[in-house]
Amino acid sequence: MRLDHIGIAVKNLEDSMRFYGEVLGLELEGVEEVPEESVKVAMFRVGETFIELLQGTSPESAISKFIEKRGEGIHHIAMRVENVDKVVEDLKGRGAVLVYDKARLVSKGSRKINFVHPRTTGGILLEVVERVGQRD
Ligand code: ZN
Repeated sequence: MRLDHIGIAVKNLEDSMRFYGEVLGLELEGVEEVPEESVKVAMFRVGETFIELLQGTSPESAISKFIEKRGEGIHHIAMRVENVDKVVEDLKGRGAVLVYDKARLVSKGSRKINFVHPRTTGGILLEVVERVGQRD
Protein backbone atom coordinates (compact mmCIF):
# COMPACT_ATOMS: atom_id res chain seq x y z
CA MET A 1 0.00 0.00 0.00
CA ARG A 2 1.23 3.47 -0.76
CA LEU A 3 -0.19 6.96 -0.84
CA ASP A 4 -1.69 7.49 -4.30
CA HIS A 5 -3.23 10.92 -3.95
CA ILE A 6 -4.86 13.50 -1.72
CA GLY A 7 -8.31 14.59 -2.84
CA ILE A 8 -9.26 18.23 -2.35
CA ALA A 9 -12.83 19.46 -2.78
CA VAL A 10 -12.98 22.78 -4.62
CA LYS A 11 -15.79 25.08 -5.73
CA ASN A 12 -14.21 26.16 -8.97
CA LEU A 13 -11.84 23.76 -10.69
CA GLU A 14 -10.39 26.35 -13.08
CA ASP A 15 -9.51 28.76 -10.26
CA SER A 16 -7.93 26.07 -8.14
CA MET A 17 -6.04 24.64 -11.11
CA ARG A 18 -4.51 28.05 -11.59
CA PHE A 19 -3.15 27.96 -8.05
CA TYR A 20 -1.77 24.41 -8.12
CA GLY A 21 -0.49 24.70 -11.68
CA GLU A 22 0.73 28.27 -12.06
CA VAL A 23 1.38 29.43 -8.51
CA LEU A 24 2.71 26.19 -7.01
CA GLY A 25 4.08 25.08 -10.37
CA LEU A 26 2.91 21.47 -10.19
CA GLU A 27 2.74 19.38 -13.35
CA LEU A 28 -0.81 18.80 -14.60
CA GLU A 29 -1.29 15.11 -15.34
CA GLY A 30 -4.81 15.34 -16.73
CA VAL A 31 -8.33 16.69 -16.41
CA GLU A 32 -11.37 14.47 -16.72
CA GLU A 33 -15.00 14.15 -15.89
CA VAL A 34 -15.97 11.12 -13.81
CA PRO A 35 -19.74 10.81 -14.34
CA GLU A 36 -19.95 7.79 -12.00
CA GLU A 37 -19.05 10.10 -9.12
CA SER A 38 -20.55 13.34 -10.53
CA VAL A 39 -17.22 15.12 -10.41
CA LYS A 40 -14.73 16.89 -12.61
CA VAL A 41 -11.18 16.08 -11.63
CA ALA A 42 -7.72 17.55 -12.21
CA MET A 43 -4.65 15.53 -11.24
CA PHE A 44 -1.35 17.21 -10.43
CA ARG A 45 1.80 15.19 -9.98
CA VAL A 46 3.84 15.68 -6.80
CA GLY A 47 6.73 13.23 -7.03
CA GLU A 48 5.29 9.72 -6.83
CA THR A 49 1.96 11.01 -5.57
CA PHE A 50 -0.82 13.22 -6.87
CA ILE A 51 -3.05 16.01 -5.73
CA GLU A 52 -6.57 15.47 -7.02
CA LEU A 53 -8.81 18.53 -7.26
CA LEU A 54 -12.49 17.66 -7.35
CA GLN A 55 -15.42 19.84 -8.33
CA GLY A 56 -18.98 18.49 -8.11
CA THR A 57 -20.95 18.52 -11.36
CA SER A 58 -24.35 18.42 -9.69
CA PRO A 59 -25.79 19.56 -6.34
CA GLU A 60 -26.25 15.85 -5.42
CA SER A 61 -22.56 15.12 -5.91
CA ALA A 62 -20.77 14.03 -2.72
CA ILE A 63 -18.27 16.83 -3.36
CA SER A 64 -20.95 19.52 -3.63
CA LYS A 65 -22.55 18.28 -0.41
CA PHE A 66 -19.18 18.17 1.34
CA ILE A 67 -18.46 21.80 0.38
CA GLU A 68 -21.92 22.89 1.43
CA LYS A 69 -21.40 21.37 4.88
CA ARG A 70 -17.72 21.97 5.53
CA GLY A 71 -16.39 24.29 2.87
CA GLU A 72 -13.50 23.58 0.53
CA GLY A 73 -10.65 21.44 1.77
CA ILE A 74 -9.18 17.96 2.03
CA HIS A 75 -11.91 15.49 1.14
CA HIS A 76 -10.07 12.16 1.16
CA ILE A 77 -6.74 10.47 0.97
CA ALA A 78 -6.20 7.53 -1.36
CA MET A 79 -4.09 4.44 -0.90
CA ARG A 80 -2.99 2.58 -3.99
CA VAL A 81 -3.28 -1.19 -3.87
CA GLU A 82 -2.63 -4.05 -6.30
CA ASN A 83 -6.02 -5.73 -5.91
CA VAL A 84 -8.81 -3.60 -4.54
CA ASP A 85 -11.32 -6.48 -4.22
CA LYS A 86 -8.95 -8.47 -2.04
CA VAL A 87 -7.99 -5.47 0.09
CA VAL A 88 -11.64 -4.55 0.63
CA GLU A 89 -12.48 -8.08 1.73
CA ASP A 90 -9.52 -8.06 4.14
CA LEU A 91 -10.54 -4.66 5.54
CA LYS A 92 -14.15 -5.77 6.03
CA GLY A 93 -12.87 -8.84 7.86
CA ARG A 94 -11.00 -6.52 10.20
CA GLY A 95 -14.07 -4.43 10.95
CA ALA A 96 -13.68 -1.53 8.50
CA VAL A 97 -16.90 0.01 7.16
CA LEU A 98 -16.84 0.39 3.38
CA VAL A 99 -18.88 2.99 1.47
CA TYR A 100 -19.70 0.71 -1.51
CA ASP A 101 -20.56 -2.99 -1.28
CA LYS A 102 -18.42 -3.67 -4.31
CA ALA A 103 -15.52 -1.67 -5.70
CA ARG A 104 -16.55 0.63 -8.56
CA LEU A 105 -14.85 0.79 -11.93
CA VAL A 106 -14.50 4.47 -12.89
CA SER A 107 -12.66 6.70 -15.29
CA LYS A 108 -13.25 4.56 -18.42
CA GLY A 109 -12.28 1.43 -16.56
CA SER A 110 -8.82 2.68 -15.64
CA ARG A 111 -9.42 2.77 -11.89
CA LYS A 112 -11.22 0.51 -9.46
CA ILE A 113 -12.11 2.25 -6.22
CA ASN A 114 -13.87 1.94 -2.92
CA PHE A 115 -13.92 4.11 0.20
CA VAL A 116 -13.52 3.30 3.87
CA HIS A 117 -16.00 5.29 5.93
CA PRO A 118 -14.49 8.09 8.09
CA ARG A 119 -16.12 6.44 11.10
CA THR A 120 -13.40 3.77 11.03
CA THR A 121 -10.40 5.89 10.07
CA GLY A 122 -10.31 8.74 12.55
CA GLY A 123 -12.43 11.12 10.53
CA ILE A 124 -10.78 10.84 7.11
CA LEU A 125 -12.51 9.37 4.10
CA LEU A 126 -10.01 6.79 2.82
CA GLU A 127 -10.07 5.75 -0.81
CA VAL A 128 -8.51 2.49 -1.92
CA VAL A 129 -7.62 2.56 -5.59
CA GLU A 130 -6.34 -0.01 -8.03
CA ARG A 131 -4.99 1.41 -11.27
CA VAL A 132 -6.19 -1.14 -13.77
CA GLY A 133 -3.57 -1.87 -16.41
CA GLN A 134 -1.12 0.56 -14.69
CA ARG A 135 -0.90 3.95 -16.36
CA ASP A 136 2.36 5.21 -14.93
ZN1 ZN B 1 -9.54 10.25 -5.13
